[in-house]
Amino acid sequence: MDSTYLKRIIKTIGKENVITEYEDRICYSYDGTFQRGIPEVVVFPGNTGEVAEIIKLANIEHIPVSPRGAGTGLSGGSIPEAHGIALVLTRMNKIKEISKEDLMAVVEPGVITGHFHQEIEKMGMFYPPDPASLKTCTMGGNVAENAGGPRAFKYGVTKDYVLGLEVVTPTGEIMRTGGRTVKNVTGYDLTRLLTGSEGTLGIITEITVRLLPKPKDKKTALVYFDQLKDAAKTVTSIIYEGVIPATIELMDRVTINCVEKYTKQGLPLDVEAILLMEVDGSPAQVAEDIQIIEDVCKRNNCRNTEIASAYEERERLWKARRAVSSAIVQLKPTKISEDATVPRSKIPEMVKSLKEIGTKYQLHLPVFGHAGDGNLHPNILADKNDHDEMERVEKAVGEIFQAALALGGTLSGEHGIGIMKKPYLQWELGEVGLNYLRAIKKAVDPNNILNPGKIF
Ligand SMILES: Cc1cc2nc3c(=O)[nH]c(=O)nc-3n(C[C@H](O)[C@H](O)[C@H](O)COP(=O)(O)OP(=O)(O)OC[C@H]3O[C@@H](n4cnc5c(N)ncnc54)[C@H](O)[C@@H]3O)c2cc1C
Repeated sequence: MDSTYLKRIIKTIGKENVITEYEDRICYSYDGTFQRGIPEVVVFPGNTGEVAEIIKLANIEHIPVSPRGAGTGLSGGSIPEAHGIALVLTRMNKIKEISKEDLMAVVEPGVITGHFHQEIEKMGMFYPPDPASLKTCTMGGNVAENAGGPRAFKYGVTKDYVLGLEVVTPTGEIMRTGGRTVKNVTGYDLTRLLTGSEGTLGIITEITVRLLPKPKDKKTALVYFDQLKDAAKTVTSIIYEGVIPATIELMDRVTINCVEKYTKQGLPLDVEAILLMEVDGSPAQVAEDIQIIEDVCKRNNCRNTEIASAYEERERLWKARRAVSSAIVQLKPTKISEDATVPRSKIPEMVKSLKEIGTKYQLHLPVFGHAGDGNLHPNILADKNDHDEMERVEKAVGEIFQAALALGGTLSGEHGIGIMKKPYLQWELGEVGLNYLRAIKKAVDPNNILNPGKIF
């Protein structure tokens, strides 16, 4: 990188907020995938003005910029594949405002999602988006990926809560979208366009979100099934009965075995599936819903059901689900996390296809995830140094996407396209859809500096 440019960055944000040493830059070369790309420089701006200054300079010099939150992404979005600048937003981590009257909050992009949850829950409010990575990931990364989580089934995903944004455009100007009101139809809905844009259309520097009152009661059920197909059928039957749990999470036998080996909590190893379900609302509604869930599970041949209402007991039931990501890497070191999503009624067919694909390509393919909204997480465990195995992985991934699309589903429910899924984008959007996206990108980022090579 041109040294005059580097000097100008250092002058803008201070030497202590710039990393140039090779060893240090390696730390910003990866995310939650197995992809890598080393940035030429890592910068940590402290406010919107500094972000705008860096982007303005990068645009003039045509230097690629990869925005980054906590780097937990599962599609390669923050990887500086084109080298250039890794722009890390973690210093901008203030909660600027929480309003109980307006049920809204304003945060900087580097706020850790789990920390935000704690702060607003202390005040009797609730922010539903809950990616499983919430102890680490940032609100900016959540908006850029339109993150979901277990509660998305009842409460929706990040886009359903973002009211407004402050954004630095790819040419370095500062723009505001949306606002502080729940209703806002002024002009194109740029807030929605930027939510889920994976760092390709602008740098998010401030986020206004809407909040909900905290539910008064909660109950959790952990249900064991001898047959995976019965667990899958239970999901649709519960909804048919008019109950919308906050969460319905599924774990298959491979996943259960890995979790038990990892946590030693006494899970039965001969069941084919576990469903973890949580209902929330008023105490009367919660009691009624959990009763219906128990009845439906029995009718669908469950082996047994554990129910908990106290916090510690509920946490015990959640323990298995929370351990999944760490537990399954015992199978093989390289984890390819997919999140192809199908309409809920197609879960049994999707699970069957996934099992067939795993067998066909002789791969470890545990299935778990957000069954309530059809967002299963088929994970392939492989070894990236085994060339033959990785070729089989590539073919299996293609077939997973084909199966999801054939069932009326999508390539990604919440992890985004990034670099991992871009070869398949045309299958879902077609050439016309893809060209529409390209036209938007070209119009706002004529020099292609923001996250080049991501999405398409
Ligand atoms: C164990 C584990 C569990 C996970 N569970 C879930 C889950 O349940 N649901 C889910 O949706 N995801 C999940 N994820 C994926 C990931 O945590 C989310 O995508 C999260 O939103 C990424 O946040 P981050 O701060 O780590 O962003 P990063 O990974 O740093 O970046 C993600 C993308 O956002 C862009 N970006 C980051 N900050 C900004 C900004 N301020 N402005 C513009 N662009 C920006 C980056 O360029 C990149 O494209 C999980 C990941 C792991 C490792």
